[in-house]
Amino acid sequence: MDTQEVIARLRQAVDETKVRTNLEFLAERRHDYSVLSQLADLKGRGCPNPACVVTPSTTNDVAAVVKICRETKTPLLTFGLGSGVVCGIMATPHCVLLDMGAMKKIRMIDTDNLMATFEAGVRGSDAEAAVARRGMTIGHFPQSMDVSSVGGWVATRSSGQFSSAYGSIEDMVMGIEAVLPDGEIYSTRLTPRASSGPDLKHLFLGSEGTLGVITAVTFSLYWRAPKQDYSAWRAPSMEKGFSFQRHVIQSGWNPPVMRQYDATEVKRLFPDQARDRDAFIILVHEGPTGRVEAELKECEEIASDLGIGRAPSEPILKWLQDRNHVPGFESFLQNNIILDTIEIAATWDRIEGIYHNAVSSLNLVPNMLNASAHSSHCYRSGINLYFTFAARVDDPGNMETVYDDCWKRVMEATLRGGGGISHHHGIGRIRKKWLADELGPAGVGILRKIKNVLDPENIMNPEVLIPHE
Ligand SMILES: Cc1cc2nc3c(=O)[nH]c(=O)nc-3n(C[C@H](O)[C@H](O)[C@H](O)COP(=O)(O)OP(=O)(O)OC[C@H]3O[C@@H](n4cnc5c(N)ncnc54)[C@H](O)[C@@H]3O)c2cc1C
Repeated sequence: MDTQEVIARLRQAVDETKVRTNLEFLAERRHDYSVLSQLADLKGRGCPNPACVVTPSTTNDVAAVVKICRETKTPLLTFGLGSGVVCGIMATPHCVLLDMGAMKKIRMIDTDNLMATFEAGVRGSDAEAAVARRGMTIGHFPQSMDVSSVGGWVATRSSGQFSSAYGSIEDMVMGIEAVLPDGEIYSTRLTPRASSGPDLKHLFLGSEGTLGVITAVTFSLYWRAPKQDYSAWRAPSMEKGFSFQRHVIQSGWNPPVMRQYDATEVKRLFPDQARDRDAFIILVHEGPTGRVEAELKECEEIASDLGIGRAPSEPILKWLQDRNHVPGFESFLQNNIILDTIEIAATWDRIEGIYHNAVSSLNLVPNMLNASAHSSHCYRSGINLYFTFAARVDDPGNMETVYDDCWKRVMEATLRGGGGISHHHGIGRIRKKWLADELGPAGVGILRKIKNVLDPENIMNPEVLIPHE
């Protein structure tokens, strides 16, 4: 169907002020925060505007839009707050973009059952502030919490800075409401656990807009911890540092924040703490006072057994204060410096090899200015790594090629080392070509079959996540 007819039908189905065609409004929502989209804009060849942006304010609005898109075979892209970094949103001239920003009601906060339900467009920091006013916390603190939505958190399988104790998004989501690609509304029953077949809400965790539109999220909450304390440590190598973290978490302690920076990152982020090739580790301890004190004492003992020394805690206070500030990419890109961050995860026995192989491989890229990593999410069976690369490119026409090369190096080092290609940013368009290497043919086959059954017309964010056959 002609795009103008689709727009006319949308205007009949939902309040017509919710169907926007104002060019500035469309342009602001064309893509997410990914480096490649920003680079393309700077070069004047960014992606086009969508045909229109719909700003639903109810789940019924969303269902009406989805039905029209299905009937007219119009691609539908869901936009949370646009902070995604893997090219998950990239408009095409005939697509409809669904901006969830107007769905921002708090539906319920329940202090007896420790639950809260938010519409999908609620900004992460607003959701946390709403429960914090009643002494609770969601426990989810992604660096982007001021610029991301709770629906986006679920759609990307997000993980926050305090994950080592509170878990990642899958551990705190108790229920979801979603509009399926045929317009039907699915809603989870709120029970603390169920053994009623596969947990269907997990279909939407990490679905990246391909299986439906998440319209509301219910979190299981925590009371805020009465006590917080900090400890910093210096390890003579990344290996020793990983060993320290492994012993801490496998002994049953779980400081919510456990971060380990390699020597390159220590020089850049904590210059006062830089010593030779030492890694720098910061821990935030939280909980009842007795537990926090016992955890700190135990960490001292584990560190002493491993020959790891205590460092001053002041840098942690600075990290806590500045942790959500990230310099924009634009000035780097304008100066022909291509850069990005890439997060992966692996079991304890594999992480050291992946770290060295990926950093060494990145350092082979001509004019590499920074190839470094830190870990920021710790588990009993393994840990993540968050690589940062920045390379100066002599020929500005080669920025994308160098970018792809850097990604390839980290993805291949991870796969060869037996790790997982994404810890929390998702797949989008950027990682799609490596997904089959991680999931295997059967795994990708399952994804394709689910997609074909739920969305046979392939209208929901069609170019994302699932590799083409
Ligand atoms: C500076 C910075 C720091 C970051 N730090 C972190 C971090 O610490 N942890 C972390 O996990 N991530 C982080 N991210 C990545 C990003 O913030 C997360 O992926 C976030 O969850 C995206 O939420 P959003 O609302 O902005 O989603 P968007 O960018 O709008 O969308 C992301 C994807 O989800 C889909 N989607 C969004 N909303 C819905 C919905 N309601 N229903 C169905 N599909 C939907 C989109 O179609 C798209 O594919 C960071 C990003 C930046 C720029």
